[in-house]
Amino acid sequence: MSKCPYCLTTYKEIMQTGFVGCEHCYQEIPELQEALDKLYGDKRHKGRRLKRGGNGSL
Ligand SMILES: [Zn+2]
Repeated sequence: MSKCPYCLTTYKEIMQTGFVGCEHCYQEIPELQEALDKLYGDKRHKGRRLKRGGNGSL
């Protein structure tokens, strides 16, 4: 289970409360990113689509 090293909030806590602990949570907790992708993926039309599992050119 992932946990944000900055605010020590766990993914489980965020799912229970519906709030992230800090701005770093999104980066530090991969599960949170995926959950948000599912929740808001279709509603976000800003920016380009990023596909996971592609060829990492970075
Ligand atoms: Zn955090």
